Amino acid sequence: MKQFQFVRPATQQSVLEVINKPGTKIIAGGTNLVDLMKRGVTAPDKLVDINHLPLKGIAATKTGLHIGALALNSTVSEDKTVIAKQPLLSMALKAGASPQLRNMATVGGNMMQRTRCTYFYDTTMPCNKREPGSGCGAMEGYNRMHAIFGASDKCIAVHPSDMCVALAALDAIVIVAGKKGERRIPFTEFHRLPGDHPESDNHLATDELIIGVEIPDNNFAKNSYYLKVRDRQSYAFALVSVAAALEIENGTIKNARLAMGGVAHKPWRLNDAEKALIGKPANEESFKQAAAIAMQGAKAYEYNSFKLKLAPATITEALKHASGLV
Ligand code: SF4
Repeated sequence: MKQFQFVRPATQQSVLEVINKPGTKIIAGGTNLVDLMKRGVTAPDKLVDINHLPLKGIAATKTGLHIGALALNSTVSEDKTVIAKQPLLSMALKAGASPQLRNMATVGGNMMQRTRCTYFYDTTMPCNKREPGSGCGAMEGYNRMHAIFGASDKCIAVHPSDMCVALAALDAIVIVAGKKGERRIPFTEFHRLPGDHPESDNHLATDELIIGVEIPDNNFAKNSYYLKVRDRQSYAFALVSVAAALEIENGTIKNARLAMGGVAHKPWRLNDAEKALIGKPANEESFKQAAAIAMQGAKAYEYNSFKLKLAPATITEALKHASGLV
């Protein structure tokens, strides 16, 4: 591993003074970044440790729930207020990684983690995300884990997070700090599709720091479910995952939120399927129709065509769980 400088600026302001320098990376839990450094995928000159900043709080506000960027994934998943107000988030976090990793990983770090595309981690292979212009090893390679939505001819990787799928479904807001003040980014607009620049995962500027996430209050607590389909029951990334949240009144769907993981370069919100559910009876027929709508525009590659069947089945099953049908 390349030698690097390790600094711990005392305050948020002093962190902001140093992060906008080439070769500088922020470290919190380090559960992804340290792996990337060990494998030579990234080689920063300077690591800026932010673990001591006062950004760990979880608090109900007048309009929702505020979660600090340095709150641990394990803490958030077990928090009583989170479980009561936003159980979907707790379920998604518990589906992610392993207990040991959840004890280290932070909310902000979870958002910033990079794809687990194996070609991205293999420095002997071409990868436009790791080395722009070098090509994409996955495009003609073993692309079983890769995208079926929103990919480009430069990159077909997927975002690996479970937490982010729930936050996208719940209309969360990302709060970031920069030298000029704070900025609020809708969660669905935080991560980006690969387009011609897969090296860029999100819209965070190089001089900005994620300081927290807000989830507006909703009426989904009673009918929420996170369903993750993976190769083994723990410590595996999603083949397909679905965050489903419903508001049901007298058997009719009044409101719906749906997002998928494991299918795109960002958490994939299913707006058209949500609209199709509103006003429909909360039954399997409605759920299957919504799932069919959600799959419009899907495109598979050589080894991941199974996702074209797995994804709608997972949407239907997640909605059945959320509605209490199973
Ligand atoms: Fe790299 Fe993206 Fe291709 Fe994977 S899919 S090899 S991350 S460019």
